[in-house]
Amino acid sequence: MQFRDLKTQYTVLKDEMDKAILDVVASGAFVMGPKIKEMETAFAEYVEAKHCVACNSGTDALLLALKAWDVKEGDAVFVPSFTFFASAEVIAMQGATPVFVDVDRDTFNICVADLERKIEQTLKAGKLKPRVIIAVDLFGLPADFKAIRKIAEKYNLYVLEDGAQGFGGRIGEQKACTFGDISTTSFFPAKPVGCYGDGGAVFTDNAEWAALIESYHIHGKGSDRYDNVRIGMNSRMDSIQAAVLLVKLKAFAEHELEDINKVSARYTEKLKDIVKTPIVPEGFYSSWAQYTLQVENKEVRNGLQAALKALDIPTAIYYPIPMHRQTAFNYLNINDNLCPVSDQLADTVISLPIHPYLTEKDQDMICEAVCNYLTK
Ligand SMILES: *Cc1c(COP(=O)(O)O)cnc(C)c1O
Repeated sequence: MQFRDLKTQYTVLKDEMDKAILDVVASGAFVMGPKIKEMETAFAEYVEAKHCVACNSGTDALLLALKAWDVKEGDAVFVPSFTFFASAEVIAMQGATPVFVDVDRDTFNICVADLERKIEQTLKAGKLKPRVIIAVDLFGLPADFKAIRKIAEKYNLYVLEDGAQGFGGRIGEQKACTFGDISTTSFFPAKPVGCYGDGGAVFTDNAEWAALIESYHIHGKGSDRYDNVRIGMNSRMDSIQAAVLLVKLKAFAEHELEDINKVSARYTEKLKDIVKTPIVPEGFYSSWAQYTLQVENKEVRNGLQAALKALDIPTAIYYPIPMHRQTAFNYLNINDNLCPVSDQLADTVISLPIHPYLTEKDQDMICEAVCNYLTK
């Protein structure tokens, strides 16, 4: 059994996918070219954003957003401690200071009460200038952007939505990757919509920022790529990846997003009475980048993982080390007791296999194995 079965997906999409890839090869337009524009238009239309800039990874997408806002040394950027390293890494890459915020135990997303506390503490310390809130749509569930937006307005901060795992999620009718002043996603193969390598995108309704990001992602280009008006980077998306994504987006919109929601609903139905299953608040819709259970403690978690492994059921721990305990951030000298919920989650979470092609037979086998272990 696969944790996220990309092989079966390829088998289903094979004819269309092979043609899309070979068409790019035959065209010779490997870098930039018409496929990139086509992909950017399709993805912007899907999420209903005015601008989409395709780039080389979800990490670069975040970095490009911070560059557009000129986030730099002396700036504070608020980011959840329970996330993938890249969400926080990009802040340090810009020379700014990450301020780690705890998360909500039910949604795994940034805790707005702690966010406000950390902003107040930063202002009181008077050393850093609060600039940006990075809110992550962890495991596919959009963060509480209504509350986040209120805080952003109160303190005059930008909101950057890290939608690397959130593509396809919604709050009401509004789609993920439109909740930030700038929003980003990742097309790493295992994300809700993945390409066949690295890829990412930046979304915004702001034409000025979109133009800056367009420039930064191609060596700070001005009127053309040999006219360089700012220090940028090389973060173009490959044309082949754009072609792959156009095929993947179609399948995602037509059935995959609904199918994965059926899997998660079935998991929850079968597991909710014996273990803490993921909570999707009223009006929210998840794209289920992960389906993550919480058990009592680390021993039970590790025991469950071993028991499932013995039955050839792959699982994953997202994430075993919260940001405020990462060695790379030792230089910040942060207080260890800063994010207790993140600490607790790091010890108690376990993610089950989930993807749109997971059969009911496999779902049942997985649920039975989880139940057997936890009720034994
Ligand atoms: C995957 C991920 C990223 C980085 O995306 P890459 O495409 O791997 O660079 C950033 N943030 C979160 C929350 C992610 O899950």
